[in-house]
Amino acid sequence: MKHEFIYEALPTRVVFGDGKLAALPAEIEKLGAQRALVLSTPAQADWAGEVAKVLGQKCAGIFSQATMHTPVEVTLQAMEQVKKLEADCVVGLGGGSTIGLGKAIALRTGLPQIAVPTTYAGSEMTPILGQTENGIKTTLRDALVLPKTVIYDVSLTLSLPPALSATSGLNAMAHAVEALYAQDRNPIVSLMAEEGIAALAQALPGVIADPQDRQARAQAQYGAWLCGICLGSAGMALHHKLCHVLGGTFDLPHAETHAIMLPHTAAYNAPEAPQAMHRAARALKADNVAEGLWALAERIKAPRALKDIGMPESGIDKATELALKNPYWNPRPLTDKDIRALIRRAWAGEAPL
Ligand code: NAD
Repeated sequence: MKHEFIYEALPTRVVFGDGKLAALPAEIEKLGAQRALVLSTPAQADWAGEVAKVLGQKCAGIFSQATMHTPVEVTLQAMEQVKKLEADCVVGLGGGSTIGLGKAIALRTGLPQIAVPTTYAGSEMTPILGQTENGIKTTLRDALVLPKTVIYDVSLTLSLPPALSATSGLNAMAHAVEALYAQDRNPIVSLMAEEGIAALAQALPGVIADPQDRQARAQAQYGAWLCGICLGSAGMALHHKLCHVLGGTFDLPHAETHAIMLPHTAAYNAPEAPQAMHRAARALKADNVAEGLWALAERIKAPRALKDIGMPESGIDKATELALKNPYWNPRPLTDKDIRALIRRAWAGEAPL
């Protein structure tokens, strides 16, 4: 255990349970708001319509153009709706893309936001916002973007396709694995990290076998909540840096990239973070973290090669160069040779070393 640390709880109200979407009108009232702008992606526009029905008078309108990486031009369009409809709060219903839009609006207006997550990405529990302008993605941390309230309703995750459930679950686990060896780790967050990994490792095979299994889904969502807290509370390292570089440079899908990289980044850091890896392995019920993650990825049929999700082999050099530029703090020093080898293995889909 680390005997010197700082712990700061993030003040989000969490309402967790099957059917809890019904609590949305009361939660809006609790915030002192009356007119919510409901946000979604185009793919989830029907859901936003259903939520508008639940809200009745409390719905100011719907904006269904949320998209990956929170482009500023989309945020500005949504802001026009906020103004025109005189909305006094936002409800982000969806995955990290929709919740990112809610955060971008909150940053610019100070309006309270309620997040209703439908994936396992964890954005709802963080004060972090990534935005894209002129093709460049920048990330900021600001208390204003942390949702005031989060409603976790398992029924909204039943439709998450098995493939995305698997990769999104591994994306969540990556937050917890990195929190365990973070420079600013602390005992509370480490407890949540270990529990989050264990819950997801146990739940995901059941979710993939039967996406309608409410018990497995609820356990996965519980794990994703804990992993989201880890992301919001501890500094991330090599894994998140590499995924940021790979996703941004080659436009790779977010959850898949995390899922493929995680066994490799865990293997890389294992020699320099033995205690953290012991805890992660215990949560995975494995002798070794990288092997445990690799086996889990196979079991839940997650992709295991960057070449299969659109990264060109010629990109390995560029990715290595960018990964070594302004690196995040990492328990193991980074060398060009080692990082290049790691990316190459992940690109080819070879087992972690
Ligand atoms: P996403 O929000 O882009 O969703 C992927 C697709 O799945 C979308 O078309 C969406 O409509 C659909 N979908 C979502 N939930 C569904 C469900 N239950 N059933 C059917 N379809 C569903 O994917 P994501 O992985 O959740 O989020 C990725 C984005 O979030 C990235 O831009 C990433 O950078 C960001 N993110 C930010 C943070 C943060 O703390 N700032 C944390 C994690 C992710």
